[in-house]
Amino acid sequence: MVIQPKVKGFICTTAHPAGCEEGVKRQIDYCKAKGTVEGPKKVLVIGASTGYGLASRIAVTYGYGADTIGVSFEKEASGKRTASAGWYNTKAFEAFAKKDGYYAKSFNGDGFSAEMKRQVVDTIKKDWGKADMVVYSMAAPRRTLADGTMVSSVLKTVDRELINKTIDLKTNEIKEVTVPVATEEEIKNTVLVMGGEDWEEWIRVLADAGALSDGAVTLAYSYIGPVVTHPIYKDGSIGQAKKHLYDTSLRLRENFSDLGLKAYISVNKALVTQSSAAIPVVPLYISLLYKIMKEQGNHEGCIEQMHRLFTNKLVKEELDEAGMLRLDDWELQDSVQNKITAVWDTVTSENIRDYADLDGYWEDFYHMFGFRYENVDYEADVEP
Ligand code: NAD
Repeated sequence: MVIQPKVKGFICTTAHPAGCEEGVKRQIDYCKAKGTVEGPKKVLVIGASTGYGLASRIAVTYGYGADTIGVSFEKEASGKRTASAGWYNTKAFEAFAKKDGYYAKSFNGDGFSAEMKRQVVDTIKKDWGKADMVVYSMAAPRRTLADGTMVSSVLKTVDRELINKTIDLKTNEIKEVTVPVATEEEIKNTVLVMGGEDWEEWIRVLADAGALSDGAVTLAYSYIGPVVTHPIYKDGSIGQAKKHLYDTSLRLRENFSDLGLKAYISVNKALVTQSSAAIPVVPLYISLLYKIMKEQGNHEGCIEQMHRLFTNKLVKEELDEAGMLRLDDWELQDSVQNKITAVWDTVTSENIRDYADLDGYWEDFYHMFGFRYENVDYEADVEP
């Protein structure tokens, strides 16, 4: 069938298999061109199919020469419905990695569940003996707890409601958005979904099974961002979950010190991914940021960020005073942020194209679903 994008708000409900393959190939080519450094060789990536997790998987495979196991939660195609982008990405990644001589196995299902953890641990024991790196890059809207209860995360503020500018992704217009205050219950649930509890559980299960090597490294990803997004991000409900994630990194180091486990938070740059597109205010900030960073020549996408993380920052153990890896270092430079502050109050629907890289935003958005690659034939009949 011929697959076209069907965009609904901040999501595209179709994905193109050949386009997703092209996206994966470009990320692999980027890393291949940079060469390898010494690093972990058996890497488990949880949340490995899109965004930062997929880029991590590619960066460790082609940057360290590592074998990988990936976990993600994606939809297979059925009838006229295409599979999700992450499903196609994973298939494409496995095929490329295997062709290039790397072990790559993928699991599709709920990473929060005990069953998934058991399957993955069994596979690590059988195929590798031990893993020497665990990357936790899951971004989920909800979680089913062990007792079967389902809890959801929310993108709301804490303490007081926020009224700020945002971009209406349907019309590219600047609108005012009111973000409500999360209830105690919503904050608690957001921490359960996006905090560190599940990361800790993965590490505990792996360690108990003897499936983590001495001196293993584990990473989870966070975001801090500029003052304009603090009420919705750093100080909002998701920020409470990220605080929990950070505290978890400290606890993991302490509780697994006998293994010499190194647990880090990497604070990454704001980028267009399926998760960030859903956050109010953030897409406007991202489109302003892209323009400024592209003009300054220091813009990076997921693969450039993850390649820099794994082959540079992590290898050098370049940490800030809180012990975190800072891949948002270029985003938060004064030269970038002073410009954001200056344009934030000025930008309107009329002048948005002068200040924001809307084309860059939408290019990344469509690419996430495998669309708008100039060398992919979108008129061709493809098997979904
Ligand atoms: P993403 O939506 O692109 O990826 C999420 C991944 O999680 C996918 O592989 C998905 O399949 C997987 N997943 C979701 N639910 C799952 C489940 N129940 N079981 C197994 N896998 C599941 O998101 P992303 O933006 O790459 O986010 C990854 C991490 O990076 C998050 O912690 C996020 O907060 C952080 N981060 C993102 C940004 C940004 O701007 N996008 C910036 C800094 C940090």
